[in-house]
Amino acid sequence: MCGNEFKLTSVAMLLASSLLTISTVSNAETISETPKFWLDSGKKSIADSEKLKPNENNAKNVILFVGDGMGISTITAARIFEGQSKPNNRGGEENSLSFETFPYVSLSKTYSADQQTPDSAPTMTAIITGVKTNDGELSVGMAVARKEKNADIVNANKVKTLLEQAEENGLSTGIVTTARLTHATPAACYAHTSERDWEADVDMPTDATISDIAKQLINFNYGNGLEVAMGGGRSKFLPETTIDPEDVGKNGSRKDGLDLTQQWLRKYPKSAYVFDKAGFTAIDAKKTDHLLGLFDMSHMEYEHDRATDRAGEPSLTEMTAKAIEILSKNKKGYVLMVEAGRIDHAHHAGNAYRALTETVELSNAVRKALEKTNAKDTLIIVTADHSHTFTIAGYPQRGNPILGLVKQPGETDFAKDANGMPYTTLSYANGPGYRGTPARPDLTAIDTAHPDFLQEAAVPLVTETHAAEDVAVFATGPKAYLFHGIQEESYTYQVMAKALKFKAGE
Ligand SMILES: [Zn+2]
Repeated sequence: MCGNEFKLTSVAMLLASSLLTISTVSNAETISETPKFWLDSGKKSIADSEKLKPNENNAKNVILFVGDGMGISTITAARIFEGQSKPNNRGGEENSLSFETFPYVSLSKTYSADQQTPDSAPTMTAIITGVKTNDGELSVGMAVARKEKNADIVNANKVKTLLEQAEENGLSTGIVTTARLTHATPAACYAHTSERDWEADVDMPTDATISDIAKQLINFNYGNGLEVAMGGGRSKFLPETTIDPEDVGKNGSRKDGLDLTQQWLRKYPKSAYVFDKAGFTAIDAKKTDHLLGLFDMSHMEYEHDRATDRAGEPSLTEMTAKAIEILSKNKKGYVLMVEAGRIDHAHHAGNAYRALTETVELSNAVRKALEKTNAKDTLIIVTADHSHTFTIAGYPQRGNPILGLVKQPGETDFAKDANGMPYTTLSYANGPGYRGTPARPDLTAIDTAHPDFLQEAAVPLVTETHAAEDVAVFATGPKAYLFHGIQEESYTYQVMAKALKFKAGE
């Protein structure tokens, strides 16, 4: 569970605001969707497909994008959301996110060793090590019990991550996330632990002998260490005696007195530590070999809220660009993991607006990576660790605002439920958006496209949950053709290892 990330805005406030339409179908578009249009565009797609030749090269570089919680319904809704903001759209449904044009797609089965519906710890472990494990555990085999305190047992069951292998083979490595750097998805790349919540010493039982996750990031001693680590989670790296440089009045959280940001600077030559947008912008990739960026005490801001951040934060796209500039100095190549970590948090909060804006920003970051790399030598993968209970439903007409109430083709009024009430296209199976007592509210006058609106949920839960259906894997570049059919989530690791000529698991 990764909830409590979002403050709910009162429904009363939203009731007061008027209904807003984010977009309407523009008929200015000259394309007319005649039968000829569909047959011609289908023929072109066939011609493109026939030209597709598998790229059998090995990869010099691998960039793995993970949309945390980015299930297929999230991708579809984000595609429409972005499409409806474009001039001359044909409704928005025809839009493609950057990675949706990749030539190869497969599906990934996300269950963990012990749960039908998984959390981010075992799913990212599967993606980055090729091994499925138990919920809550990071890059250790399933023989380890959750919250195992004994370092000997945990260490005996470590499974090797792709980043560790990359370093041992002389490549550079980077991790970029909008969540805390010590959160499950990024942590699975460099840490081995029986409990994902043991992010700093203060989070752990005092008699546990394994290292906390932040300490494991600094003590990542494969090859010449991580070249890039950017995200949130500053409090996990600073001692409780240190006043936070951004949030005045708040301190670091570590009880062991260690300032891990200073350890980073001491450990690596030509290294830098930055905590705000100005520091980030000032980083010269040519002169910096090891960059640590901690832009928030906890998670970074949602893209929608980023402009209001006190010290300023780089966007996911900007961090991705900087990471590639630093990592590509290594002639042998690099492995970079980029996580859009807050798609998941917005979904847990039942807030589709932020989940979709985070997804569009991930699409922007992928586009930037495509611009800065060459498909001949760089394998780019876009996937999710797991899905959410997010649904696109009703029978809205083409171009109906994706965040709006359902209006069916030819109707002037909204579609009604069995009690005569309108309903939104987007909803959740469970979560904080439940409003069923005593009956569903009348949403007619509510601005359901407001950034703070919480989509309705069928089952009341404090935080919405993950969902168990398969997620998509999109790929382009060397060995991308190996993504086909339905595979175990651990298969994603196998393709990356194969492309880089690493022996799986060694
Ligand atoms: Zn989650």
